[in-house]
This record gives sequence, structure tokens and C-alpha cells, in this order.
Amino acid sequence: MISMPEAIDIVLSRAAPLEEESLPFPDAVGRVLASEVTAPRPHPPFPASIMDGYAVRSADVPGTLRVVGAARAGAPLGPSADGSETHTGAGRAVYITTGAPVPPGFDAVVPVERVSFPKGEGSDAVAVADAFVPGANVRSVGSDIQRGEVLLHAGDRVGPHELGIAALAGVSEARTRRAPTVAVLSTGDELADPYARMYKPNGQTDAPATIDRSAAASSSDRLDVSAGSIFDANRHMLLACAREAGARVMDLGIVRDDPDALAGAVAKAMDAGADVVVASGGVSEGDKDHLKDVLLGSFGRIAGVVHFGRVMMKPGKPLTFAEIHRVSRTDSEDRSEDRDESRTQLDGKKTNKKPVLAFGLPGNPVSAAVTFALVVAPAVRRMLGWVDPRPRRLQAVLAQDIALDKERPEYHRATLDWEANDSSANLPLARSTGRQISSRLTSMRGAEALLELPRGPGFVAKGTVVSALVIRDIGTQGGLQMPRVRPKVVRPENAHDRVLAAADAGVAKKALRDDEDDAKKFALRPKAIAVVTHPFVPAKSLSDLARESDVPDSDRAVTDEGNDDAAAILEATRRFLQRAGVSTDGDEKNAWRVFEARAENGTSRRLALAARAAAETASIVLIAPSGPSAVSSQAAVVAGTDLGFPGLAPRMRAPLEKKYDQSAKYDDDEERSEAEDAAALAAIAYRETGFGINAGQVAGAVVASLPCTNCEEALVEGLTKMLLVPREKWEGLVL
Ligand code: AMP
Ligand code: MG
Repeated sequence: MISMPEAIDIVLSRAAPLEEESLPFPDAVGRVLASEVTAPRPHPPFPASIMDGYAVRSADVPGTLRVVGAARAGAPLGPSADGSETHTGAGRAVYITTGAPVPPGFDAVVPVERVSFPKGEGSDAVAVADAFVPGANVRSVGSDIQRGEVLLHAGDRVGPHELGIAALAGVSEARTRRAPTVAVLSTGDELADPYARMYKPNGQTDAPATIDRSAAASSSDRLDVSAGSIFDANRHMLLACAREAGARVMDLGIVRDDPDALAGAVAKAMDAGADVVVASGGVSEGDKDHLKDVLLGSFGRIAGVVHFGRVMMKPGKPLTFAEIHRVSRTDSEDRSEDRDESRTQLDGKKTNKKPVLAFGLPGNPVSAAVTFALVVAPAVRRMLGWVDPRPRRLQAVLAQDIALDKERPEYHRATLDWEANDSSANLPLARSTGRQISSRLTSMRGAEALLELPRGPGFVAKGTVVSALVIRDIGTQGGLQMPRVRPKVVRPENAHDRVLAAADAGVAKKALRDDEDDAKKFALRPKAIAVVTHPFVPAKSLSDLARESDVPDSDRAVTDEGNDDAAAILEATRRFLQRAGVSTDGDEKNAWRVFEARAENGTSRRLALAARAAAETASIVLIAPSGPSAVSSQAAVVAGTDLGFPGLAPRMRAPLEKKYDQSAKYDDDEERSEAEDAAALAAIAYRETGFGINAGQVAGAVVASLPCTNCEEALVEGLTKMLLVPREKWEGLVL
């Protein structure tokens, strides 16, 4: 028995992209482009205004201009009224709206918000106070799309936005691959059509549905349970699957468990131009399972090669795949066609047409759905021209133990849920859809993935990472909602500029280079500045933070949201040194090094540990802030310092000072508990570092945490202070 991956390979090796066809572009949505689309014309086709305002000559502004006309979107400025005067004499302007052609001779647009109407200059005067460069607020010809630019590539799937691009560029025709026609039939004497009369199978492509609510219709739908009948689910489901995969469909109805009837139905589909025939049921080992023989040609009308008839998988073992040809119709067949699909003579002659792909899916509805997703849908997508037609594979974390099948690898239906999963890799949580017996179609409800589980014995434990084949659009399901993260932002130059300007003031230079005494103070310390950075632990109050340190790291909500300052501080520190004229080249004797010491998270414990470690190899340790509640860092490291570093948050500092001031009186219990909390945090830091937190000193290094507001300024001020304050002042100050 072949494996499922082998089966998919075989099917895809027989399914080729169909021939090219040209379509009006709007009809090509869902198709794949067979050739690239280039822009036949530029866009915008004329210099267009980006703003509502005044078209000017940039050379004329600043200045007061006379408005000589108006150009509006779709109503360009015509020739001047008397035909003689050009609009573009010096000192002229034209009122213009967004999207209007900028009249020849003008090269900039001044937004209406940036003009004033000077009194006493006449109603046609506008004053512009600022300079505008040539091209300001003007989209030049072809600035969005250049003539000849490749807009869409061969192999691109056309979606609404690709259609929009083609429309904007005025491309009318799409060169695509033809969409395959998939004919679908259900086999089984037990089957009744739940939509009989509403949707009449007639062998026609995309037959329209009609709703018939008459008594006759409903009675004909009634199930004859005593005769063992059940409703036909597969055909309707598979027709919808085929449409969703991008195929055109042909409904062949329910076919009795009779080989001639089956051969007749398949032949009819082929005559009507089907590229793919999908049957469900009748492929297992019962005495009424005739499909394989029919596909092999044993009952005339068709001749075929069966590539496989069983696959090592659960559900769907009897999955059958064949390539079939229509053999020429005989006179007797023609005659018997309408009366009865009776056995016909086989003349063995094949037509030259491409073989039709025939799939015999197992009758159990879950098996039919799963095998369609795994082999039929990829075949359809390959025929449409998809570059990679296979189902998308993800990884997911199991939400529960799943027992394995002892005989076959299983495709276990599951939902995917990103929101509920706190794995740092952001893998979705896979939840089984429940009992997986192949007749229980409700196990497909909401199923987004097929988990690829190996053959047993044993089970796969909850929390295991498994691979999952995506079988529906997960983007529209509720479970795809990851927490929002703020990306790390590279600050624009001006943020640094403020720092650099401060560094330039010369104080820093003096501290780091020129002050001999200070230089001596640091002689025994490594010339290095460590920046302790950390993911952020959201917390609301001091007591929250105190508790936060007792929470095991595995249970912590840690995020980088609101923590884009770390990179900026690191960068600003380097620039500070650079601008102060201090070498940062590690090889030089006097060079300073700047390095990042990343704490696992922003709790006082982790910060204290990171600061402690960094202090071994740095003179100065800076704790990057992580948001408004980053008092833990201050509590841990700078608690009690008397240096007046700008980093100490007042709300942290005040209660602490009170706590250690024996004569202090508390206004109320709340104030007292604040102080207790602050002391508790400091105690945690003391305990965790082993050395304790001295006044701004950890293992001989100066430590400061930076506030989240005005961080760069504080950095400069703090660095400077640290280097100027005599060492004696901070040494030995024990909390
Ligand atoms: P078969 O593959 O024909 O042996 O059918 C296997 C099981 O699936 C039987 O219980 C059938 O009654 C059931 N079955 C077959 N075709 C369908 C269908 N179109 N809709 C619902 N159940 C079906
Ligand atoms: Mg059957």
C-alpha cells in the first residue's frame, strides 16, 4: 500500500496546468496568470496634485501670488480666457484639487492650509509664507506605475487587488489557465437527495438551483428509513469543495450501485468535457463496489489506468486514482443511451484527447472530505496553474493527548487557535474536533487542519508540536488573533540629535576625557557601559510588581510591547560616547565598550541578576525602561540612591525614603503599605543578587535605571553625573 505523500506525488505528476485562455480581467479573479502583465501606460498619466491647494512655480514662493484659474480633478485648466495670456507668468497661481493635472509651467502645489489671503490685495491674491521645492505635492507622470513596468507576474493568483491594479493600468485582458471542470457523482443504492427538485442534476456545468417548497417537493425528499436510505451528503459537499478549489463543476447526481450505470455516468461527464471526475462510494471491498472495475474499462465506454486503489491513511484507505479515456461510442451505445445504461460493446479505440483524472473517494463522508482536501484539491489547483498546489503545512501544539491508530497514519481533524496559546514560538494550539470515526461528518465542523499523526501504538502527548495541513481559510476563523506587538522602532535622527546636542555641550567630554581625577577614579574599572534591556512585564501597581517576582517565569506574561526604548538607548549611548570624542574602538587602551545585557524579563529579580552580571565587566550599568510601570527596575537597582539620578521614579523614591527615615510619619495605611511594598522589592533585589544593592552600586559599578519619559536626555544627564560624582559619595552607601 502506498503512503499518502506518495499518492499526492503521483496525482500531481499526472495533473498539468491546463491550456491558456484569455479572459476579461474581471472574470479572471481566482485564476492564475499564464504570462506577466505589464503597464501599457504610465500612472498618473499627467503630473497630478496630491493636495487641495494652489499650483505655483516653486521659484515664486515664498511670496504673494495672483490666482489666475482653477484646475480640478477631471476638469484641467483650459487655455486662458482671451487666448493670449499664458497662465504661468511670474507670480501666478492656479487653484487646484487633489488628482487634478498640474498645469504646464507650474511645478509645485502649496496645500490650502499653508496659504493665507492677505487683506487689501484683492480677492484673487494668496500669500505663501514658506518655500516649496520643485515637485512638492505633485505626483509626476508614471510615479506610481511606469510604462512597461511589470505589474503582475506569471503564476500570480488574481485576487481583487490584482484586478484593481490591472484596471488602474487599463489592462483589459488576462492571459490565464483554463479552469478545470470537475464532475461529481455519488454512488449508492441507499442514497436519497436532500435537495431533490431544488437542484436538478442534469449533467450541465453549474446548473442553476431552483427552490421548490411545494408539498410534492418535500414529500419526495422524505427518507425511506425502512428501505435503509440515507441522505446524500458527499455530492453536495464535494461540489462545493470543487468550486472552492477554483474549478467549474458538473453535477452527475446519484448513481445506482450498478457498473453499467456508473460507466454511463462517467462517460457522460467525459463527453460533456469534464477534466476531472470525482465519485464517492463504491471503492471498497463489498460486492456492490464497482468503481475500480468501471475505471479500468471492464464495463465499456471508458478505458483507464488505475494508479492506486488503496492508500495507507486514516481516514480514506480505499482512495482510488485513475486516468481514463473515452472509447468511441458504438451504434448500439447510441441506441441504448436514452433508454437504459445497459452494457455496451467495447471497441477499444481510444480518442486522442488528454486523459481525464478520475478519483474514487471512499463513501464515508469524512473520508471523502479528507481525501478531497489532500489529493483532489491540489490536482485542481495544479491544473489552474498554481505554482505550489499542496496544502499549506503549519506546526501546532497539541491541546490534548491523542491516541494513535495502530495500523495507519492518521489525518486528525483539528481547529487551530493562536489566541489561547502562550508558546513563545507563537504556534497555534490544535484542538481535536472530537470522535474521529469516518462516518461522523460533524468532526469536520470548523476543522481548519489535518494533523499529520504517525502510526501507533501509543499516543502523542498534550503539548507536543505536530505538523498540520491547513484545509480552510484560517484567516477568517476566530482563533487567529495573536497579541499585538509593537515592533522595535529605529528612531529617526532627530531623537539622537537631541542627545548629541547635549553631549556636545562639553560636560560629557570633560567627564570622560579631560578630568584627570575622574579618569583615575575609573582606572580600576573596565571601560564599559552595559545597557540592561528586557522584555516588559505588564503590571499595574507596586504590590503587583512585588508579587510578580514570585511568579515562576514559565507563568509570566512577557511582551515586548512598549519596549522599543532599549535599542534607542543602546544606540544613544554609543552616539554619546562618539560625540564626546571618546573612542569606542575596543582595541585602544582608552576605548570604551558599550554592550547590551539582556534580562530574561523586566521583573526586579531578573533585572537585578542581569545588572549584577553586567557589573562584573562594566563600570556603568544602565537599566532601560520598559513602560510607565517600570518601577521594578528602579526598585531593584537604584533604590535608596542619593545621587539624584534622573532615573528614579518619584513614586518609587518617596515611599522608600520614608521607609528608611525613622522619624517619618505615614499619612495613612495606604502610604504605609506603599512603603512596605517598596522595601519588599528592594529586599528581593538584595536576596537575588547576593551582594545586595548598595546605593547605586552593584559590585563596584554605578547602576542607574532610566525613566521612560525623556529617556535620552536622562541618559546624557545620568552618564555625565555618574562620571562626575566622586566615587566616595556613592561607595559604601548601603541600603
Ligand atoms: P461505500 O464507500 O460505498 O462502501 O460507503 C461507505 C459508507 O459511506 C456507507 O455507510 C455509506 O452509506 C456511506 N455513504 C456512501 N456515500 C455516501 C454519501 N454520498 N453521503 C453520505 N454517506 C454516504
Ligand atoms: Mg456504497
